Amino acid sequence: MKAPSYRRSPRRARLIALAVVLAVMGLAAASQALPQTAPHQPTTLARPGAETGPPGTQTGARDGARDGARDGAGTGARDGDGTETGARSGPDSAPVTYPPRGAGTFAVAQGDGPPLGHAGPLLRFQVVVENGIGNLDPATAAVTVEATLGDRRGWTADGRWTFQRVGPNQTPDFIVYVATPETRDDLCGMGPDGYTSCRNGDRVVLNVARWVEGVPGYGAPVGQYREYMVNHEVGHRLGFDHELCPGAGKLAPVMQQQTLGLQGCLPNSWPHQPAG
Ligand SMILES: [Zn+2]
Repeated sequence: MKAPSYRRSPRRARLIALAVVLAVMGLAAASQALPQTAPHQPTTLARPGAETGPPGTQTGARDGARDGARDGAGTGARDGDGTETGARSGPDSAPVTYPPRGAGTFAVAQGDGPPLGHAGPLLRFQVVVENGIGNLDPATAAVTVEATLGDRRGWTADGRWTFQRVGPNQTPDFIVYVATPETRDDLCGMGPDGYTSCRNGDRVVLNVARWVEGVPGYGAPVGQYREYMVNHEVGHRLGFDHELCPGAGKLAPVMQQQTLGLQGCLPNSWPHQPAG
């Protein structure tokens, strides 16, 4: 049988050729991993003037950024805030899956995001997702991180900082990783843990297990926990240390180790509370 023939105009042919070129470029960019983010190479992540110490220095251990042990028993506090910016990222998509250890390479969210915040020095960040994590593309993770950092209750609220996400091949001030539990241990550099998230120098390391599941007894939707983990670990990058629950029934400070239990406080994702 003869294949049906159809006329193709030169203009249409040019458009098709352009679409093919763009698609190939997009695939090439999307498959690009971060060669410098392999575990155990902290020096390659440092940049001049960054707070990262000399090779081998575990700044995360010094500043206590390791978020806790394995006794993640929550206190079952009630939901204190029903909002869920984080849940915007892909509510209709398939569940995120992950192995105990991913590939150790990372896909970087493409393109630059909008500036977040209204005043203060600019910190540029990348969002990367470990290869091997299923159903979580870097762009989706970036939506959650950017929405959280740009929220009016977030770190930009008081004009001390602005943030902007940048794409591959740029030099960020910090990198937000979504990593598998065992790769998280490599990136954090503080021994086996697999449960919590951490900040280590310019690495803000989010454990995909907590990203997906939250913690038992948190008393708020997982999207709210996700906002908490972003704000808490970025808070370490901004120089904040841990705080304790100020009293039963009060909102937990965002720098409280809420992953390990609320100590009578209510779950809270935000460093600032809106007035009124
Ligand atoms: Zn912490």
